[in-house]
Amino acid sequence: MNYRQRTISKQVSCCGVGVHSGNNVNLTIKPAHVNHGIKFVRTDLPGRPKVNALYSSVVDTSLATVIGSEGVIVSTIEHLMACFSGLSIDNALVELDSYELPILDGSASYFTKLIMDSGFEDQTNPRCFFVIRKPIEIKQDGRSVGVYPSSSCQITCTIDFEHPLIKTQSFSIDLSDKEFSENISDARTFGFLKDYETLKRYDLARGASLETGVVMDNNDILNKEGLRYDDEFVRHKLLDCMGDFALLGMPILGHIVAHKSGHAFNHAFLKEFLDRKDSWETLPLNSTEKTHQFGSLETASL
Ligand SMILES: [Zn+2]
Repeated sequence: MNYRQRTISKQVSCCGVGVHSGNNVNLTIKPAHVNHGIKFVRTDLPGRPKVNALYSSVVDTSLATVIGSEGVIVSTIEHLMACFSGLSIDNALVELDSYELPILDGSASYFTKLIMDSGFEDQTNPRCFFVIRKPIEIKQDGRSVGVYPSSSCQITCTIDFEHPLIKTQSFSIDLSDKEFSENISDARTFGFLKDYETLKRYDLARGASLETGVVMDNNDILNKEGLRYDDEFVRHKLLDCMGDFALLGMPILGHIVAHKSGHAFNHAFLKEFLDRKDSWETLPLNSTEKTHQFGSLETASL
């Protein structure tokens, strides 16, 4: 676990196509100062408006996570946000010249490689964490999301689809740069051919193809290369969950458990989480302290 704030060492760029818009987009990630957070800049608009990557900026979660401010939107941020969370990047400025981030291969592997090639810079200030004191849960129609007190940053995801290649899958990680980059970042988004055809009818998913995620019909996977892991589906759901929780602006010291959730339900949970101020506190943690004894957490001196 990283206890100091972190940014990237030097700016990195990539380009690609937005999965819903079909627009070409150039994206550059730049280092940022302490306490800056993650911000997106629309370089294609007059005045280069900025949107903060925070829960309070979320304007839509129906097909992707969309943030906005004063009519300016940035769409499909979840995979890059997961990457920032997974690699413990607190501060960065992301410039893009269209409204939607590139989907690339439908995973976070390309963003992860870009950021790891740039290198990290650990900054002078400590990171603040949401330290969970009491469980917080929401449940609805067989789905649930909760956070529970723990001395580490853990995430567990479970999915349950009737599709014969998915069924019930569960995956759990103790969050670290290594765990994220080796086991989560390259898990691709997935979808079903029938949904894809519906989206096409509404002129959505313009940039979607077998190159941008796993596509299945009723029985099989249509991608010639097959799956990257037998449980690639749940690993991607965990990646999405990390991207959603990254909008809290601070990591959670606790155990996040998501069961049959998706972006919209994760965001319903984030609202509940932020309302339940009696169940957590925000603390900078001391890098030398042992977190095995939850009761003995010490705060760092600022
Ligand atoms: Zn996703």
